[in-house]
Amino acid sequence: MKEIIVGIDLGTTNSAIAYVKDGVPEIIPIDGQPTMPSCVGIDPQGKLLVGLPARNMLIAAPESTIHSIKRRMGEPVKVTLAGQQFSPEEISSFILRKLKEEAEKFLGQPVKKAVITVPAFFDASQRKATQNAGELANLEVVRIINEPTAAALAYEAGHSDNERILVYDLGGGTFDVSVVVIENDVVEVQASHGDTHLGGDDFDELLVQRVVDDFHAKHQIFLSEDPKTMRRLKLSLERAKCALSDEPLVMVREEYIHGDLHLEMELQRADYEEMIEPYLQKTLDCIHKSLQDARLLPGEIAKVMLVGGSTRTPLVHQLIEANLNLVPRWEINPDLIVALGASISAASMAGEKSKAILVDITGHSFGIEALSFTEEGEMLVNTPIIHRGTPLPVSKSELFHTVHDNQREVEITVFEGEDRIPAKNTLVGQFRVEGLSEAGHGNPILVTFNLDLNGMLTVTATERVTGLKKSVTLDTRNVHASFDLAAARQNIMSLVDQDVLELEEPGEDSEPVDSHALLVSAKELRKRAEALLENKVTEEDAVEIRELLRKSAEAVKAKDIESLQPLNDSLSDIIFYLED
Ligand code: AMP
Repeated sequence: MKEIIVGIDLGTTNSAIAYVKDGVPEIIPIDGQPTMPSCVGIDPQGKLLVGLPARNMLIAAPESTIHSIKRRMGEPVKVTLAGQQFSPEEISSFILRKLKEEAEKFLGQPVKKAVITVPAFFDASQRKATQNAGELANLEVVRIINEPTAAALAYEAGHSDNERILVYDLGGGTFDVSVVVIENDVVEVQASHGDTHLGGDDFDELLVQRVVDDFHAKHQIFLSEDPKTMRRLKLSLERAKCALSDEPLVMVREEYIHGDLHLEMELQRADYEEMIEPYLQKTLDCIHKSLQDARLLPGEIAKVMLVGGSTRTPLVHQLIEANLNLVPRWEINPDLIVALGASISAASMAGEKSKAILVDITGHSFGIEALSFTEEGEMLVNTPIIHRGTPLPVSKSELFHTVHDNQREVEITVFEGEDRIPAKNTLVGQFRVEGLSEAGHGNPILVTFNLDLNGMLTVTATERVTGLKKSVTLDTRNVHASFDLAAARQNIMSLVDQDVLELEEPGEDSEPVDSHALLVSAKELRKRAEALLENKVTEEDAVEIRELLRKSAEAVKAKDIESLQPLNDSLSDIIFYLED
């Protein structure tokens, strides 16, 4: 049985484990989930609990549960758990042991070796402590790699683009940003900055404080006086915060939060994003510092990759795009990307090649036309709901409002594209919602877009006060169907190769796009093969190349599309072996 080296993301809030199967990185589920809370507890019977069961105990018995131990790694301290003292290495080893055992069950074979990731800013003692935790869990830590390196590997395995990549990692408790360069499959961190106490937990705190203040204003009761209530609030508001990444508003409901009193409060994304903006500004400062350290201008960054659960917040995307003029990449699940990248590094240590992870994303934004009140006055603008670069399938909602008093209908006009001016985008479809209630202007209408992997976009408009709903499904692949291929070909005739165009007059049942591609690549391959003949190739190879060139030219002349595919394949094979 072939030995498997696993990749482990030992995170502050959550951990994950992955391995490479047939060249493709894959997550190993823990307790049925892709990630495992980095929590350790001891139950009233003295049994060790790790992961989800430990996190579930956090509310009922916080003194018997430890979380965020990663923050203490490398410190000569002990933490108390159910009256017993443990070092951070020991607590981390419980987490690693559970990951190892679950992986062994899943894979049906022993797991003895691992690559473990650490933040780029971890010093030698923190790295050593991580290694020790591995050894305590009976895992040989074959390599410790930086988290941004792992993230870059997940996107770029197999490429050697010499590109500069910015990895922006905003998790639950920490933030860091790194500039990495991939050169000939070696990933190097050029600069790294961050804040070890900035992340989603801070955002939760702000929301908890908002709710506590609001409840006090209404009932003159301080919910903050009861630690159990506070932990309940924290969990509930963290859920609400995550929902705000996809919905413009959420309702928070907690029954009997204090005596007979219930909590019921609506949170709006716009308010929430205003609250967290100062924190996000700090992350932007870190980006600029790391660019300075790497002696780079923002324009020299080729890609921005997002890591960590908190990067799902739409404002994070907006600020990065505005600051760096790049659409950030986040198609690989930001909770899993580090473990997946670690498994790629692990596989390469085991002598295996793996592929970069490919995920479907939207190439364009999808939005609707809405009235906007700008400095220049009122104007109709294209307002995106799903932004380009979003992984598929996806569901996103935004809130819009009627403009007139007693407005009984709204027109929903859906566009594909990023331009603010509606006419400069592609019209996807249009429908009308009639029968709205009699209300003053500002009647809220929730518009939800569901886009699936096949390009089917379901648009639902709901009047919030009545629940009146209308839904249509639009095929976004048809939006370019009116493209006049023949006219376009005519238009470019003078600029491209005549032989390719002329040969490619489609017959009744031929497939114009495929045969065109085949002809273009035949031409390209012949050029490269001819170049090979000018280099040093053996006489035997030269004979084979000349024969293929002759047959390929004949097939093109005879419009023999069927023979062209195998000839292209053969040319491509020989080029692969002989080109440097
Ligand atoms: P990590 O440390 O990478 O596991 O990230 C955990 C943090 O991401 C926690 O603070 C989560 O509340 C936050 N998070 C997870 N999903 C979302 C989401 N959809 N929107 C905003 N924050 C999220």
